[in-house]
Amino acid sequence: STTGNRGLIAELIRDVPDFPKPGIVFKDITPLLARPSGLAAAVTELVADSPRDIDLVVGMEARGFIFGAPIALALGAGFVPVRKPGKLPGETVSETFALEYGSETLSVHADAIAPGSRVLIVDDILATGGTIAATAKLLNSLGADLVHVAVLLEIAGLGGRERLAEQGLADFSAVI
Ligand code: AMP
Repeated sequence: STTGNRGLIAELIRDVPDFPKPGIVFKDITPLLARPSGLAAAVTELVADSPRDIDLVVGMEARGFIFGAPIALALGAGFVPVRKPGKLPGETVSETFALEYGSETLSVHADAIAPGSRVLIVDDILATGGTIAATAKLLNSLGADLVHVAVLLEIAGLGGRERLAEQGLADFSAVI
């Protein structure tokens, strides 16, 4: 059942205090990935939360790749990776955004998204929303139709959901 799946997912994500730095509680999904029933539950619930008529699933390096590809297969969609700089060989568009300390840049191939494509963004965790907001800007610049954002886990209280709404990404779901 969906309730059983969600309970299993919650049980298999491990809280690691003070990683990668003091004060951060890191949500470690590796126990979930390693358990066959956990991995299946995560993909099943992410697919259940997503609309059907998707052309492309976009996942962000690196954990967005793990869920993005099986979700794309389940939806009959293609998969497009959003990567850190210097990884994609073709012409790219990039977006730089602020992190708590320093900044991050994300890139996507300029020809990866045909204008008007119906796109689903997938990531493991929504925290501040900076990563997904930057990805949305990239995809908007290529003329994508951003239909839905699906994450496995939302960390509440960091303003992520509000940030996505400001970005026009109202259609958002979190499995847990
Ligand atoms: P944000 O851009 O702040 O929404 O952060 C989202 C990205 O950072 C996701 O791709 C997560 O994989 C990672 N992340 C942020 N906070 C955590 C956390 N507490 N535990 C594990 N991963 C995190």
